[in-house]
Order: sequence, then structure tokens, then C-alpha cells
Amino acid sequence: MKDLDEALALVLDGLAPLAPEEVPLDAQAAGRVLAAEARAVIDLPPFDRTAMDGYAVRAADVAPGAKLRVIGDLAAGGGTLTLEPGTAARISTGAAIPPGADAVLKVEDTELDGDTVTATAGVSPGLHVRRRGEDVHAGDLLARPGDVLTVPRLSALAAAGVGTVRVPRVPRVDLIVTGSELLPPGTPPQPGKIYESNSIAVGTLVQQAGARLVSYPSVPDDRARTQEVIERGLEGDILIVSGGVSVGPHDHVKPAFAACGVEEVFWRVRIKPGKPLWFGRRGGTLVFGLPGNPLSAIVCTALFILPALRRLGGERDARPVLGRGRLGEPAGPSDNRTTFLISKLVPGEDGVPVAYPTERQGSHMTGALGESDGFAVAPHGSGPLPAGAEVDLLRV
Ligand code: AMP
Ligand code: MG
Repeated sequence: MKDLDEALALVLDGLAPLAPEEVPLDAQAAGRVLAAEARAVIDLPPFDRTAMDGYAVRAADVAPGAKLRVIGDLAAGGGTLTLEPGTAARISTGAAIPPGADAVLKVEDTELDGDTVTATAGVSPGLHVRRRGEDVHAGDLLARPGDVLTVPRLSALAAAGVGTVRVPRVPRVDLIVTGSELLPPGTPPQPGKIYESNSIAVGTLVQQAGARLVSYPSVPDDRARTQEVIERGLEGDILIVSGGVSVGPHDHVKPAFAACGVEEVFWRVRIKPGKPLWFGRRGGTLVFGLPGNPLSAIVCTALFILPALRRLGGERDARPVLGRGRLGEPAGPSDNRTTFLISKLVPGEDGVPVAYPTERQGSHMTGALGESDGFAVAPHGSGPLPAGAEVDLLRV
């Protein structure tokens, strides 16, 4: 049995991002990770622009009481004109400073009478002018490989004329649920059968992580059928098989993996729930055998599969994202395993979340999931923790 950190390292260490592709800078780029530098295509601002509504002027012409002839109106994105001494052009925020002008007299400092404007204040050269390139120069580095395309970054790249970005291609995840007892949710109940919930839970988690999901109808506990579907599922980047990964007479997943040439890296991790997690590889495909219990499946997906997807997607540090919080009541690890306590998370007075583990904690206790917001982590070896103890939080 592996410790959590050791098992995580076995999944993540040496895992390289997928080959890059060029995608347009649109919603499909959002949240992905750059595989190449992104540089400004143009200067920003691209030309001298006014920061104010007012009049484009020659600063030397303007002092309190000076009168200037208004020779035109300049709008953002519109045409231009040339300013002669003694003249001014009405100008709107964002418009280009016309040739001949070197400052903007803001509208609040003027009085207009017909086509004559009178200044009520002076201006210095450059006043209210945003200079070409004062923000960014063409060729400037805007983002590096490994940077996530967050909304602010997308905005910066778009403004600097970047139309496409290089990002690792979208990973393909194949999800197979096994178990002869499984019924699709929403169908009539049947004796001895249970509703299948790992497809929706695990499938949603991997899709939220940006993967392309390939799903299959649930597979009964049958050796030949299991192997056949696994062989098909091995064509993607990650294969997830839920259920059947233990050692009962109806657990066919591990022998099927072996027959398909998947090499075991580890089986069993010192976590609760999720101990029977199996991990292996065939070529470049990562293969996870998830315990079928719904809580185990969720915890293992959040701890191992989402980090693997983030790494394939190009993130530098892909370890699980844990928040910090406090226990609202005493709790602790059980079975000497790092225990993920399904919890209600309530903001404390100082804003730090306080975790109240739900009464029911078994890995099959799906009812408790309905009232939970995530998991409080009680590390193995920590012993009983008092109310108020600081803990990691895993939110899904
Ligand atoms: P297994 O990992 O196949 O031993 O399954 C462990 C427990 O999880 C059993 O009680 C199964 O009935 C249940 N289970 C397995 N797969 C699913 C699933 N996809 N959805 C809900 N429960 C499941
Ligand atoms: Mg089973």
C-alpha cells in the first residue's frame, strides 16, 4: 500500500504535457495552458490617443483665455485631420491625436461659442495623451509556457493583437463503469440493482477539467466483456474503469488490464475512502481502476485524475488543489489512513471555512454527499484532532 504523496508522485512525476496545437483565442482557449511564449503583435496603445473628451490642441497655443477655431470632430476609430496653429479639433476619448496636436484640453476647461472654443486653463505638452507603446511594445513577452489562460491574460493577449495560441491538445478520457448491479439513473428500479452514479460524478469532474469524455454503456461483471471494452478504452490518454478492481470472484478488471498489456504501477493507497485505487500504464495511456463506491470514486478522481489531466494540459504544478479550513468539531483519521471526511463547510467569523463532518461517513454513504460541500482531510498518523484544528480541504 502506497502513501498518498508517494502514489501521487508515481502518477505525476515524469508526466509530460500533450503535444501542442494552435487554437483561436476564443472560449476554447480559456483555462488552457500556454505551450509557447505569447508576444505582443503591436504596440499598445497602437498610436497616440486621447484619454479625455475635449479638444486636440497645440499646447503652445493654450493659456487661460486663449481662443481657438474648431476645425473638426475626431471620434474613436474615425478619420483624422491636420491641426494648424490657432486651431483645435473636438476629440472623443480613444480617438487618435491628429498630426499637429500635442495635447488635449479637456472639455471641462473650455467654453464653446459657435466654432470658437475658449480655454479656461492652460495645458502642457502631452497632457491627456496616451503615448504609442507606453503600455506594451510589439514583441514584448506577455505570457510564458505553463501560464494558464485566465480571463485577464486572454484580455491582454487579445488587446495586443494575438489571434491564436499554442496549447497542449485536449486530452481524451474514456470512462467505463462496471458492475452487473448497475442501472441507469431515472429508469424503473429492479430487484438487486442499484442506480449508477459514477458516470455522472466522474464524467462531470473530468469534463470540467477540460477533457473530452468518451463514455460506454455500463459493463456487467463478465471477464470477456470487460476486457473487450477496456481494449477499446485504451486508445485515449486516460482510461478510467470504475468498479471491479478488488479481489472478489466477480472482479475482472485487474486480470483484464493485465491481458490488455497494462502495466501495474500501484494498487492500494493509504486513503479513506479510496484504498483499492489501481494505477497503471500502457504506452502513453494512463489507466485508473477506481473503486466503485461513489465517495471513493469522487475522492480518487479529485486526488489523482484531475491532477494528471492538469499536467497533461501543461500546468507546471499539478498537485491536488487543497484549501485551508478548521474543524468545527473533533474528528480524526480512521484505519491509519489519510481520511477524507465528507463535510459541510460553513464560513467562520474570520472568513476561514469551518468543516462539520456529516454524521454518516462510509464510502457508500451517498446520502451524505447531498448535504456536503467537500472533504476535510485528517492525515494518517495525526491521531484525533480537536475542534478548531487546522485542516486541508478538498472541494469537488
Ligand atoms: P466494486 O468496486 O465493484 O467492488 O464496488 C463497490 C461498491 O460500489 C459496490 O457496492 C457497488 O455496487 C458500488 N458501485 C460500483 N459501481 C458503481 C457505480 N458506477 N455507481 C454507484 N455505485 C457503484
Ligand atoms: Mg463490483
